[in-house]
Amino acid sequence: MGSGFDAIVANYERRTPCSRELNQRASRVLPGGDTRSVTSFAPYPAYIKAAHGATLIDVDGNEYLDFLNNYTSLIHGHGHPQVIRAIDQQIGQVMAVAAPHELQVRLAELITERVVSVEQMRFCNSGTEAVMTALQAARAATGRQVIAKMEGGYHGSYDHVRVGSQLRASATTAENGTGLSSGVRSEVLVLPFNGIEGTKRLLHSRGDDVAAIIIEPILGSSGMIPASNDYLIALRELATEIGALLIFDEVMTFRLDRGGYQALAAVRPDLTVYGKIIGGGLPIGAFGGQATLMEQFAPAPKGSMTHSGTFNGHPVVMAGGIATMELFDTEQISELNALGDRVRDGLNLVFEELELNAVATGHGSLLDVHFGTQTVSSVRDARLTPADLSAAIHLELMNRGIFIAPRGMMNLSTAVTVAQADRLVDAWRDTLELLLPVIDHSYPALRQSRRAAAVGERVS
Ligand code: PMP
Repeated sequence: MGSGFDAIVANYERRTPCSRELNQRASRVLPGGDTRSVTSFAPYPAYIKAAHGATLIDVDGNEYLDFLNNYTSLIHGHGHPQVIRAIDQQIGQVMAVAAPHELQVRLAELITERVVSVEQMRFCNSGTEAVMTALQAARAATGRQVIAKMEGGYHGSYDHVRVGSQLRASATTAENGTGLSSGVRSEVLVLPFNGIEGTKRLLHSRGDDVAAIIIEPILGSSGMIPASNDYLIALRELATEIGALLIFDEVMTFRLDRGGYQALAAVRPDLTVYGKIIGGGLPIGAFGGQATLMEQFAPAPKGSMTHSGTFNGHPVVMAGGIATMELFDTEQISELNALGDRVRDGLNLVFEELELNAVATGHGSLLDVHFGTQTVSSVRDARLTPADLSAAIHLELMNRGIFIAPRGMMNLSTAVTVAQADRLVDAWRDTLELLLPVIDHSYPALRQSRRAAAVGERVS
């Protein structure tokens, strides 16, 4: 971070001595002092010891409003009484068992009732696993090897989807492919997100080899960038034309509509991947689709694929997921989306008032902020945000009691009040006002008026 940001760092360190001590202790036994790339940031992250509703408390007693919600997984915030009760009850009954459990049936019913394209589903323990198994299902169903994915598309840590998942420059976990098996790259086709013509060209060039096209309908980790409806429709047509499966990764976007983003876009994928909110705060992944495809996972002789996992369909996770999804009805979904729109509009107004060339992106309760552009339609636009500015904003927001992702991503839970959402916008305004001298000095291009920026901007 540049010298203009030193006071922010010093203030953060003054507020968090116990976290610093824990980070030093952690660094001896955990590489870099952490066990999850996206939770670590310089100089060290705050250690959270308690959380209730929308509030976090760190080991130094500082309070934060949580606008990260464990990276979108806590749709009702922390410790919703109905979710806690369901989990508590289930722990007392049976925690884990090598037998099916009725709660698996109930959660699968809840999701299949909501999503037209999903008739049957399987549970696992993470979005990563769900993606991996859905891709295996696509290879098995098509007899093909190649996976087509989006540039900047993030689907977890499975080798094939790590290719081309380079995130924005300011991300703490820029993916560079280190450690990937060498054969993987030849089995992955990276497509230009939102670029219909380029996508067509690439898919036609290798159409016969492509088993699946996988897409986040909103690029999440790369900056909450929605796919255009035209692009999703084109992908649907192309997948059908070349005989590949279309997979929607709705790990983040399921929250946006009762039927997920596919209902909003009116596009039916062949398979859909889930995670995060459907586990009620506990670890989960799931994937599903038409019965004809999913029956590959039925026991032999009907199916030919095995899908095991010691903790698949964990009864306690199922209980948390059921309570969470039952609470998340149509009314709550639209209220939450409206609150997200309020924050996004508020942030864009702040950028206008401060004459910053920046934009808040996303849809409903999923939000992100980009500097240096106002039309973000691919990860290339997202990479325009200077990394040290992004880091300074994040740390200053922490100093003001606002907890967001180090890269700027935010999301809302149903625990957030309108007043708290407005506090988020106010904190951004105050933070950016504080940073204006540094921005003027180091990044004067970010201060061009929004109108001038819009005119001069390249259209991608
Ligand atoms: N897909 C998407 C769209 C995600 O955002 C994530 C996680 N952030 C994953 C897959 C992977 O999920 P998990 O972290 O549970 O493995």
